[in-house]
Amino acid sequence: MSTPVPAPSYRGRFAPSPTGDLHAGSLLAAFGSWLLARHAGGRWLVRVEDVDAPREVPGAAQRQLQTLAAFGLHPDEPVVFQHQRGALYQAALDQLLSTGQAFVCHCSRTVLAANGGIHRACVATAPRPDPAVRLRVEDGTLITFDDAIQGPQRQDVARDVGDFVIRRADGCWAYQLAVVVDDADQGITDVVRGADLLDSTPRQILLQRALGLPQPRYAHLPLLLDAHGRKLSKTDAAHPVDPNNPLPALRTAWRELGQPAEALATSLDVPGLLTDAQAVFDPRRIPATASTKVAALQH
Ligand code: GLU
Repeated sequence: MSTPVPAPSYRGRFAPSPTGDLHAGSLLAAFGSWLLARHAGGRWLVRVEDVDAPREVPGAAQRQLQTLAAFGLHPDEPVVFQHQRGALYQAALDQLLSTGQAFVCHCSRTVLAANGGIHRACVATAPRPDPAVRLRVEDGTLITFDDAIQGPQRQDVARDVGDFVIRRADGCWAYQLAVVVDDADQGITDVVRGADLLDSTPRQILLQRALGLPQPRYAHLPLLLDAHGRKLSKTDAAHPVDPNNPLPALRTAWRELGQPAEALATSLDVPGLLTDAQAVFDPRRIPATASTKVAALQH
């Protein structure tokens, strides 16, 4: 009789939204999360975050998956698509509504604008046909956590964010809810992603607490900036990586992860490069901020 294999103590993931092709910044997140999972002897999953139908680019999800494959980044389990998981999000929403931790909100963006867009109490004077659902954030809700790369973090969620949307007025599931439900359902122990999501993390921790879910460890990778110092965005169609020429982009991501360039200088192909990378990768070298602007990487 075979002994059951214990669940790995590290489960990481890469969770792209199909709003465009993968660019150098998304490759950094994919490669970084893959390297950290491999380094820990854990599993690495891919989840397509396709809950935001209005922003989805047709065909982008399949192209992203093909690009990951071309870069040798193969998930250890079947890819999960958020658009198929509405029942899980609905169950979480029902739980939060039934305990009074979430509420239906008729406020429009226009009425909230007077308060900097932050919701503290409903101010709508008339019901709308398409209300949103928000998580209630009590005054003085201070969230602190230790990020493995960015260090200690704190946010006063009531003051800086307010009651936040978990199901949007257009009926779409909010990213914050879907990501928390899925990370827990998939047993993710380590969330590794770009530092642009650092300020979403306190909201996700609040949702985990409200739903009685475990809190994963967090590591927010350095963000690649464009020549103007702005974050690269898939919707800008900014600098997509070339799946037909993976080695240069992998080497660039490797350097931006603070790893020694010479370790991959002589790797001949993708499998060889990934093997070389795993042998040398040291998470302690990952910097909090990227050193190069992407315009400079093109040469
Ligand atoms: N889907 C998000 C994005 O593409 C990432 C979510 C996450 O890693 O938590 O920006």
